[in-house]
Amino acid sequence: MVWNRWGRENDSDPFFLCLAMFNRKSLLLLLIILLLSISVAFLFHNSSKEKSNPGLSEKKVIILGFDGIDPDLLSGWMDEGKLPNLKDLRENGTFLEFETTNPPESPVAWSSFATGTNPGKTGIFDFLRRDPQTYMPDLATSSFSEGKFLLRLFPIEKPSVASNRKGTSFWQIASQNGLKCTVLQAPVTFPPEKVQGGKLLSGLGVPDIRGTEGTFSYYATDVVEEGDTEMGGKITRVKVEDKKIRTIIYGPRNRLSKSREDILIPLEIQIMNDKQAIIKVQDRKEKLEIGQWSDWFVIKFRMNPLIKIYGMGRFYLISIRPEFRLYLCPINFYPKKPPLPISYPESFCKRLAEDIGLYKTLGWAIDTWALSENRIDEEIFLEDLFYTENQRAKIMMNELKKKDFALFIFVFQASDRVQHMFWRLIDKTHPAYDREKAEKYGDAILKVYQKMDEIVGEVIPFVDDNTTLFVISDHGFHPFRKALNLNTWLVKNGYMTLSSEKGKEYKLEDLFGRGEFWPNVDWQRTRAYALGLGCIYVNLKGREAYGVVKPGDEYKSLREEIVAKLKNLIDPVSGKKAILGVYKREDIYKGDYLDEAPDLVVGFNEGYRVSWQTALGGIPPEIIVENKSNWSGDHCSFDPSITQGIFLSNRKSAQGSASIVDIAPTVLEIFNLPIPEEMDGKPITFLTAN
Ligand SMILES: [Zn+2]
Repeated sequence: MVWNRWGRENDSDPFFLCLAMFNRKSLLLLLIILLLSISVAFLFHNSSKEKSNPGLSEKKVIILGFDGIDPDLLSGWMDEGKLPNLKDLRENGTFLEFETTNPPESPVAWSSFATGTNPGKTGIFDFLRRDPQTYMPDLATSSFSEGKFLLRLFPIEKPSVASNRKGTSFWQIASQNGLKCTVLQAPVTFPPEKVQGGKLLSGLGVPDIRGTEGTFSYYATDVVEEGDTEMGGKITRVKVEDKKIRTIIYGPRNRLSKSREDILIPLEIQIMNDKQAIIKVQDRKEKLEIGQWSDWFVIKFRMNPLIKIYGMGRFYLISIRPEFRLYLCPINFYPKKPPLPISYPESFCKRLAEDIGLYKTLGWAIDTWALSENRIDEEIFLEDLFYTENQRAKIMMNELKKKDFALFIFVFQASDRVQHMFWRLIDKTHPAYDREKAEKYGDAILKVYQKMDEIVGEVIPFVDDNTTLFVISDHGFHPFRKALNLNTWLVKNGYMTLSSEKGKEYKLEDLFGRGEFWPNVDWQRTRAYALGLGCIYVNLKGREAYGVVKPGDEYKSLREEIVAKLKNLIDPVSGKKAILGVYKREDIYKGDYLDEAPDLVVGFNEGYRVSWQTALGGIPPEIIVENKSNWSGDHCSFDPSITQGIFLSNRKSAQGSASIVDIAPTVLEIFNLPIPEEMDGKPITFLTAN
């Protein structure tokens, strides 16, 4: 047994045994060697840690998407000095014309953005698609499976949702190559993709609790017509009795009940005086004043004794006397317990709510439908729009500040929504122009563009010499002054035959509620039909259930005939051409999903758009009607040659234009990653290295 100078018993420890055998000098030398080797080991440890975590590369890419920013409006306001941060980017970096997809619709364009491919490879051609066996429309971007339940009680298979977008996103490629990606609110990212080591919060495509793009509720004592509105709203007439109103909130359809009825939650309102009321839902109460939004009400919907799901909504008290009017926004998934995953990792949406408070989860987050139906006014709409946009900016900053990414993407939506709703107030020739409102709200679109400029200004400090910044939009905007009923045109030109004059006016609820479609179409004598935003399908033998047009020459000549006639369609009132181009699918798409594309895609001229009724398969009496709706600006179904988006970057490029499919290969090239062959885009070339 040997005792060393520290008096420690160490016969079992060879290290201490050796120490005891050295004299003081050699001990000192040994200590120096030991210290040196520890520091070398430490250094190696650090560098190997960095090597195992290459996700934080030196090079960074930040992409800010602003849906629907129009190049002409933007240029004008940059010239006037109203958008200083964006002007700075234009002057010191790049501002290019940005080619969009055909059709220039958000789900189509953002899918091509993600994959760098044309719609023939993403399989997303429109908001809607149709089942040729039933002629029934359905949402194009995702498919739901309701799950399986034993005795309608015990879940044996979870309800799920699958994305219909094909192809691989560039953030998936980047994350598979070890880069850390933060992808927030990009459209068509529901259900959330796995981005290994990164984060993703789903955007456009996340439904509300009813499975729709946003069903609002409106309660009033002066309601004339109760029920569903054309574009998704529940209108309820209420009665004040003894200063109390007792009514209901429409929850999700209960797929566990035989009749699949809506789950209804009691809503109680206590009138306090002419200005205040107390809202009570389940065990939460809140006193509201007229002209005030409530905080979020988290609502529990019980499907059966075992299963409950959570949603949340905000109320706005419009008036109490002489008429009581109350608005409830669409019920969003509760981010702390969403019924379906809306983020990757699944817990990310919850952590975010803990960081910044409750936030809207609904993909179509801004309440356009309620303003479209005149249930809320411009003031309430804009208040909610800026609340939503500020909350989005807060989410962006919360994650940007973490600096834990190589690739960062955030897509904002308010720019698109405000232009849909307020174009009528910047266009004096619009049928829905209102001078008084124009004086009050004519600057609403500019204000949202200025908000974008402010957001870009907040991001600029995060853009160093190694960071590439892109500010992009997926398409531009146009006035939507007149609506064209394509099915009516098909009927009047002998391509579609009706079995009776009795038609039907469609409501969005028909789509989600699986209403009766095409009730008066004689399919045996119909050669073509229109559905969605500018899509025409041939009633093709062997493909459609009651197809009559033979593939081959008959199909070809029918399409030629329709193309020629539609391109010459003149609005008899204005003498203008309503349509700029009609495209055969094989001329604009290539890829594995070409067969799922509409046979013809119609590209409208400035001022004209396909009608809402056509989009839902409706056949109203007139071909062209004035659009007097608040939904007054659009891009869907406009010809892509006049609907470009914007592209700005901090890096200089000598290119004259770029395309939305170029972003994916450009990002991969910046990170020195191979560009997959199937990508249709080409990397944008820059004059300055990063
Ligand atoms: Zn839009």
